[in-house]
Amino acid sequence: MTAAVSGNLHFDPDQLREKYRQERDKRIRSDGNDQYIEVTGDFSHYVDDPYVEPGFERAPVTTQVDVLIIGGGFGGMLAAARLRDAGINDLMIVEKGGGFGGTWYWNRYPGASCDIESLVYFPLLEETGFIPKQRYTNATETLEYCQLIAEQYKLNDIALMQTQILSTDWSEEEKLWVARTNRGDSIKANFVIHSNGPLNRPKLPAIPGIDKFTGHTFHTSRWDYRYTGGGPFGGLDKLADKRVAVIGTGATAVQCVPHLAASAKELYVFQRTPSSIDVRNNTQIDGDWLKSQPPGWHHKRRTNFESLLAGMPVKEDLVHDGWTEAFRDIFGGVRQYRPSGWRLLLWSLGWALSSARKERGIKQYLTDKAMIEMGLQEKMEMADFAKMEKVRARADSVVEDTETAESLKPYYRQFCKRPCFHDEYLQAFNNANVRLVDTEGKGVEAFTAKGIVANGQEFEVDCIVFATGFEVGTDYSRRAGYSVTGVGGLTISDKWADGMATFHGLHTRGFPNAFFFGPQQSGFTATYTFALDENAMQTAYILGELKKRGATRIDASEKAEKAWINTIKRVARQTEEFQKSCTPGYYNNEGHVEFESQNTFYGGGPIEFFNLMAKWREAGDLKGLEIS
Ligand code: NDP
Repeated sequence: MTAAVSGNLHFDPDQLREKYRQERDKRIRSDGNDQYIEVTGDFSHYVDDPYVEPGFERAPVTTQVDVLIIGGGFGGMLAAARLRDAGINDLMIVEKGGGFGGTWYWNRYPGASCDIESLVYFPLLEETGFIPKQRYTNATETLEYCQLIAEQYKLNDIALMQTQILSTDWSEEEKLWVARTNRGDSIKANFVIHSNGPLNRPKLPAIPGIDKFTGHTFHTSRWDYRYTGGGPFGGLDKLADKRVAVIGTGATAVQCVPHLAASAKELYVFQRTPSSIDVRNNTQIDGDWLKSQPPGWHHKRRTNFESLLAGMPVKEDLVHDGWTEAFRDIFGGVRQYRPSGWRLLLWSLGWALSSARKERGIKQYLTDKAMIEMGLQEKMEMADFAKMEKVRARADSVVEDTETAESLKPYYRQFCKRPCFHDEYLQAFNNANVRLVDTEGKGVEAFTAKGIVANGQEFEVDCIVFATGFEVGTDYSRRAGYSVTGVGGLTISDKWADGMATFHGLHTRGFPNAFFFGPQQSGFTATYTFALDENAMQTAYILGELKKRGATRIDASEKAEKAWINTIKRVARQTEEFQKSCTPGYYNNEGHVEFESQNTFYGGGPIEFFNLMAKWREAGDLKGLEIS
């Protein structure tokens, strides 16, 4: 882009591209996912359940059910709910935690909340009639909602809590799965649904001396309130005389840092890459308005939100928040998806005449002749630059110390990392007791008995909070915490050693009657519960069809699986360049993108994927599945 073309902008696209490239390059590491250690052995206490009384015991269970659901998070609950709706009721849910909620059961750190609008994020809202209190809900309300779903769908009756699956083995002879647990249970099941959560296994940085630190440590997903005092809404009174360090500045740290800042004597925030922190602006939900919505409003709202994020045509932006802003600016309401030829011309003319012209900045720029001639990808890039300039300007306007403000500015495209929305995070750095330790992409160097070394300096602290996230790109069984063995002794780890291989992301050949929930080779939504509900509905449909046909065994055909992998690779190419340009993180396999094309999501976006699945169901022939 030439300077003349960028005349209306408040930024220089070439300069920004170069800056983004430099920031990315300094963060790329050859060890990728190996920079983290597994929370096993000496580190296994990091995953102990702090929310249950120790010493729970029960007699082993030996039983047989129709469907075994592994995981009691939203995925498992939705599976059970949709199966019950389909009249399939012989179910069992096995859950590691002491209650339902999955990620919300574990992540109860102070400030834990959901920054996707609750009317979009919460599933089953029309079925339960639940009215969330606020636009952006918190962990406490979410757990309460999980309990409500569990009661409505009678899930407590079918759940084995505080129970960890160790193995699931297919018996070709009996045509069923045999699951074993850490409590000595043996559960036989005709079908197994694996819904163990993509962000289920906490990870720690493999930094020298991590076991040497003599102070207190914990991971954010197992917050130690006995040590900090207070609760999910803050008030961490036991930290008043403590020097606390937080490692990591992802979505979790962004939410707990303001509470640590308010309570700790001193707080050091160790940053490798800053998150983008946009306005959240939480408000109350108007229950009367919600009750007046016509049937189908929920699906419509979710689809509208995810369509905008995927760059698909919508008549209006129903959610209208920080997530959709950049896309709103590009599409301005009603737009065509991947337009070409006369469509692009009409669209562009429409743009030129639109009221957006009256507005300054990116919107005005988008109506310029040069912009009209631009392709959609470039338009999106321009809108993204504009959006991130706004995010960076916010750091300047909120943070008093200019050096700290500069350090807090993210230089990458908005969706390279999980965008964050918060109205107290940046402000926390104005507190005299809070210090940002910007490691300029290098991260923490070492631990000592007394603290942390970064930028060659030792910081003495009493407590280290690991806000370092969860395993994503590692082996499936390592993340799930159990083995899966299919036909002829083939393990899932071996099957997927050279990359994911599925049909529709749900089935994998050689593992009959098993359903794998999750985003890989499937539709990935920012609203994760939406994709899980689609997984659940697809599974309920397939099982319903099998019952009607009197069938007892299904498996993906070899041909269908190969074809689906090719589809995933082909469509992934649309997003590969974007991923390659991104700063490393779990969204792009820590920058090692070449491995991603097969292990990634359906690249056409979730709504296109859901439409594909809906058409597949409408056809009614279960094409691609071998049924007997
Ligand atoms: P993330 O993986 O997003 O963040 C981990 C953080 O740790 C990053 O800032 C990372 O830096 C940093 N880090 C890792 N190693 C080091 C090191 N050696 N030195 C310094 N820093 C290091 O985990 P989160 O728990 O924050 O979030 C996980 C996901 O959970 C989110 O992406 C989101 O999907 C979900 N979530 C959703 C919320 C919601 O509102 N709905 C709220 C909270 C979480 P770097 O970026 O450089 O890798």
